[in-house]
Amino acid sequence: MNKGKKIKAFGLLLSLLMLFSFSSCQETVNNIRDTINETFSSSAYSEEQESSDKKQSSVKASEAPSQVSQSSMFTLDSIPEYSGISYVEINGNVPYFDSADYTETAFESYSELDSLGRCGVAYANVCRETMPTEKRGDISSVKPTGWHSIRYDFVDGQSLYNRCHLIGYQLTAENANSKNLVTGTRYLNVDGMLPFENMIADYVKETNNHVLYRVTPVFVGDELVCRGVEMEAYSVEDSGDGVSFNVYAYNVQPGVVINYTTGYARLADDPKSTTEKEKTYVINLRNKKVHLPECSSVAAISENNKKTVKSTLFSLLNQGYTACGTCLG
Ligand SMILES: [Zn+2]
Repeated sequence: MNKGKKIKAFGLLLSLLMLFSFSSCQETVNNIRDTINETFSSSAYSEEQESSDKKQSSVKASEAPSQVSQSSMFTLDSIPEYSGISYVEINGNVPYFDSADYTETAFESYSELDSLGRCGVAYANVCRETMPTEKRGDISSVKPTGWHSIRYDFVDGQSLYNRCHLIGYQLTAENANSKNLVTGTRYLNVDGMLPFENMIADYVKETNNHVLYRVTPVFVGDELVCRGVEMEAYSVEDSGDGVSFNVYAYNVQPGVVINYTTGYARLADDPKSTTEKEKTYVINLRNKKVHLPECSSVAAISENNKKTVKSTLFSLLNQGYTACGTCLG
């Protein structure tokens, strides 16, 4: 192989590598979007029909748009670290809707839960028809992934986590719909999401127009608590003059460090203050996996690599161990 060919081959390899790494960092968001593209046409409709019945509204399930979303260019890598403001704009604040969706037909769609039980994209064409006519009901029966009841005095209302509606109750009247509720901090709920929901609700009440509204929870890997949510909105009748945004709101709580894998938390200024109780775990020193003592994999670990510890999962994960997908998944 002469020098020129070598350089060419190297260049090809390099571009393949770049292509590969680019596509893998896009994975999380695109996977979520793919999932809803797949599920929307089938199962999502029955859920919608159910909720329509509950509300006795005239929303017609069959008239939802054929395409829920497009593959967007938004990745978590492009989002700056939280720095004191509850949200950042994405894509110059322009939503990624397909113009084919600019209809004046009410619809609602909630993704099927994934294999870990996590929510996906929630999408609706919000209008008077989809809004509640009754007070919100009890939603405490739903335990979204990563849910723990954690209280801090300095958090508004004391509870660190709220069952956070992806699409707010005031917009589509969904109560205890597990496909529309995630574990979200009080801060995400009130500072991050509510102002945008209020903007849509006020606009619809004033104009009787329609607003496309899509909320995408963003999870990293197998984490049970989302890092944040993307919220996109667009008012149909006036081509976005009334409402148009595309933002990412952080699922954080000032003063608290959240373990997004488990949902446990600790005070930012006290590393020992985790809310999780110590338990007995068995760790595999070779592959750095953590198991519950009763896990079937434990018997297969050689005595040299096996160690029983009393600890919190939070602390073990912070030491570089990973949770077994079978017993701790
Ligand atoms: Zn295990």
